[in-house]
Amino acid sequence: MSDLLLEYAEATSTCTRCPLAATRTQVVFGAGDPNAELMFVGEAPGFHEDKNGVPFVGQAGKLLETLLNGIGLSRSDVYIANVLKCRPPGNRDPQPEEIEACESHLFRQIELIRPTLVATLGNFATKLLSGKPTGITRVHGVPQEVALGGNAVTLYPLYHPAAALYTRSMLSVLEEDFRRIPELLGLTTVVPEPAAFELALEPELERPLEPAVQLGLF
Ligand code: URA
Repeated sequence: MSDLLLEYAEATSTCTRCPLAATRTQVVFGAGDPNAELMFVGEAPGFHEDKNGVPFVGQAGKLLETLLNGIGLSRSDVYIANVLKCRPPGNRDPQPEEIEACESHLFRQIELIRPTLVATLGNFATKLLSGKPTGITRVHGVPQEVALGGNAVTLYPLYHPAAALYTRSMLSVLEEDFRRIPELLGLTTVVPEPAAFELALEPELERPLEPAVQLGLF
């Protein structure tokens, strides 16, 4: 299955289905274990992801990694992708026509990886994969059974880590929602109690770059 994913990534690297092809540095296809049980789906590559070709390598990515480590997982245990594979200029919101042009790349990825749990990060991934317009504020932390890529999958909506970088209370909610992931994966991992599970936020993570509302994260 991983060969097919590699082939698909190769084919996608020259995608010109939408105008973002003209402004991107490169397609950010996805990264991680091609056979992962757990897949994360974010919104779109930002500045650092566009330069590096890897999703979630900026500040939000550092927080995602910290949260993963907190439940005994690392980036290499999971697969990480985005709704859009190319960076929207200035990190603006994905446009409906861009999502429409790009969504089959994500659906094919899910079909090839066959995760059992897909954690959607923020509104765009949640709305696309749930097929419902309900926003993340109402559905975060509530697992939903859906069919994706021809398979039954548990969809687990979470706040986008970038949103949690702006609002402490949202970070606590994200941390709490994250703590249920081992259980949803059927793992017996003992996750430390909240008091012992203090997120080691680096000082730079506490400095927002842009207002979260502007980023469409709520
Ligand atoms: N935010 C996203 O949604 N995806 C990334 O890859 C980085 C930041």
